[in-house]
This record gives sequence, structure tokens and C-alpha cells, in this order.
Amino acid sequence: MGNAMTPPTPAWGAPHLSLAVRGLKPSPTVAINERSDALRQQGRRIYKLGLGQSPFPVPEPVVASLREHAHEKAYLPVKGLPALRAAVAAYEQRTIDLACDAEDVIIAPGSKELMFLLQVTFYGDLIVPTPAWVSYAPQAHILQRTVEYLPMREADGWRLDPDALAECCKDDPTRPRVLILNYPSNPAGTTYDRAHLERLADVARRYGVIVLSDEIYGELHFQGRQPSIATAYPEGTIVSTGLSKWCGAGGWRLGAFVFPRQLRWLQDAMAAVASESYTATSAPIQYAAITAFQGGPAIAAYLVRARRILAALGAFVTARLRAARVTLPDPEGGFYVFADFAAHRAAFAARGITTSVQLAERLLEDTGVALLPGNAFGRPKDELTVRIAYVDFDGARAMANLPDGPGLPDPAWLRQHCTPVVEAIDQVHAWTLQA
Ligand code: GLU
Repeated sequence: MGNAMTPPTPAWGAPHLSLAVRGLKPSPTVAINERSDALRQQGRRIYKLGLGQSPFPVPEPVVASLREHAHEKAYLPVKGLPALRAAVAAYEQRTIDLACDAEDVIIAPGSKELMFLLQVTFYGDLIVPTPAWVSYAPQAHILQRTVEYLPMREADGWRLDPDALAECCKDDPTRPRVLILNYPSNPAGTTYDRAHLERLADVARRYGVIVLSDEIYGELHFQGRQPSIATAYPEGTIVSTGLSKWCGAGGWRLGAFVFPRQLRWLQDAMAAVASESYTATSAPIQYAAITAFQGGPAIAAYLVRARRILAALGAFVTARLRAARVTLPDPEGGFYVFADFAAHRAAFAARGITTSVQLAERLLEDTGVALLPGNAFGRPKDELTVRIAYVDFDGARAMANLPDGPGLPDPAWLRQHCTPVVEAIDQVHAWTLQA
């Protein structure tokens, strides 16, 4: 009797997920971080070389500015606080000689969000040179866009060959495309010189390719400055930046894009989508970001210290891995290396390791070193590559103890002040050479 009144059990469940996200896993960078923390909570000694999080604190003047603006509570304009947009434009003028002004800037809760909005808004293929940061392609897949992978070569320092770009574009020359160019590179740590960027710019201009120049690690170039493709191809380049890497503020979630005037239509469309999704970026964070982008002597000194430590550590990691017959190009900025264990293929096969995922898993199991497999960066499954983020150390203590002067700290200093990274690389070295 009661049965007639019982509503049918709804058929909701996993089969009703959008086809585009069925099978989608949490992003590998985020997943390895959460897994490392969970393993640590179980009491395991874990070296966190997985997530690329700055080891350094947010510079004191920026923290002070956040404190001062904690009361800011209003929704801000969707494209960002005008004074922050002006500060970002001035920063780009100062650091990469980009001709731009406040109107060209859009602010968001992280450049990752802006990259997603760009793909929501622009209809075209995404060109992803690999190895590439883990989220560019999944964002395209979520939106059911086509991804064109352009494999790069270790012998080229994992840099994009302009001829490979031309080859990709020439079959359908008028097809709308966005090329993502990230330098210093996540995951390889290498970057481009001006001549190389000019050659890439020529190809992009010839085929009308929009370039998303992801310069989030630009300030962490070990020399403190690098050219941008935006100066060689101003009309077609969007520059991406943010606070996460150079300002140590990943968890604050603040990113910015700078558009050429010619792409104002795209910027406006992205702002319209933003207004229907996140509305605006956190107000106190935007006020604090003005202080960060304005710079000044304290922030400049902080960056000099950060670069000296990262340059020394990058060189140490590279040398130590090479001593174990692991190959990799010299890092030039940021805090990653992309290491290739191909020379150990036969020995690893005998240990049951034939893919990068197995390699990363076994390293975690056997040594406690958490890192990411090359496959997560768009490389073939059986290529024995991994990304190492050399960030597991107390950056505040390291900065405080760094001797003054232009030179780089030596390995003994690194062993004392960046201990977990040095120990982790020792572990990888010994584990690799195990019979
Ligand atoms: N960009 C960082 C990385 O590659 C972390 C942030 C993220 O992936 O969202 O590890």
C-alpha cells in the first residue's frame, strides 16, 4: 500500500558525470602534496619534492600590507583593483620592457584560473610543448578542446624548436590556436634567449597563433632577468604572472594576465565569464599584491637571496644526479629539474620498473622521496623521466643564514641549510645505483 507513495530511487550517480570529467583524477601536483602530507601523518619520513611550492616566506612588507588591509570587505571590480592593475602594468614595464598599461591587465584568484577562463572563452586548439606543466592539457580536456602536443627534446634543453611549431601549423594555416610557452620552464628549469624567442615569434605571427607566455617563474631566473616573447610579438602575446612563485604566496591565490590591445575582445569576454563564476578576487589579497608588484629595496633584496639559494641548489641537484648517470639540462631559473634515467633502463627493468609512474612510485616507497613522473607532464609512459621540485627546506631560515655577497653558497652550506633536499637527492643517487 505504502509502495504507491514511495518515490522511485533517483538514478543519480557517477554515470551522470559530464563525459568530459569522467575518469578525471585530481591534478598530480595537488594529489602528490596531499598524499605526502598523509604519509607524514602516518609517521613516515617523506621528502616533499612533488608540489612546486616556494620554500620562501612571503616578503615582510607584503605580509604587513595584507595585515593592514584585512578589513577590506567590498567586492572589487571583476578585472581587479585599479591600483593593482596599474602596479602589475608598471611591473611588466620594469621587468620585461613591455609596453602596457592598467587597462591591459586582468587579475584573478591564480593564473591557473585565468588559463581555464582563456580556454573557456577562446575557441581553438591548444598547442602544448612537452614536457609541460600538468594542468594545461587537462583544462582543455575538461572543455573538450583539441590539444596538439609538440614533443621537445632533452638535447635542446627541453626547448621548443621553431621548426616544430611551423610544422604543426602549416597543414591548416588559418586554424585558431593558442601556444603555451612557459619559461623558466616547469618542469625543466630551462629558458630561452632572445634570438630563440624571436624565431618562435616569427612563426606564431605567420600563422596567427596566440601565445600565452607563462612567466610565473620569470623573477626566479637565476640572473634576475630574462627576455619575453611579448617584446618580439607584442600584438599576439598574453603574459601570465602571479604571486605564487617569486613572492612565495601560492596559497594566497593571485594571478594576472596582461593582454595586447588587439586582444581586448578576449580580455573582455574572459571578464564576463569571471563575473559569472568567481565575481572578483579576494580584496585584502589584492591590496597586499599592490605592495608586492610595486617592489622596492626589501623585495629586491629578498629576490636576490632567493635566486642565489635556488641557483646553488639547482646546480647541486644537477651535479649529484649526473654523478648517478641521470641526464638533465642545467636549470636556469625556478625550482625544478626534469631528470631522465634512460641510462638505467636495463637495470630498472630487472627491478620491475619500466614506466615513469613505476619509477616515481618505487622511489616514494623505497626512499620516501615524493616527486612526479614524466608522464604527468605529457611524456610517453615508458620514458624514465621525473620532475624534481627542489623546495623541501625552510626558506626563511636559509635566507636568514645566507652570507652576503654575490657568490653562490657552497655544497656544505646547502647541506646545512637546505638539508631535506640534499638528503633526498643523496637517497635518489644511492637508490639509482643500487645493483
Ligand atoms: N605549479 C605548481 C606545480 O607545478 C603547483 C600549483 C599547481 O599545480 O596548481 O607543482
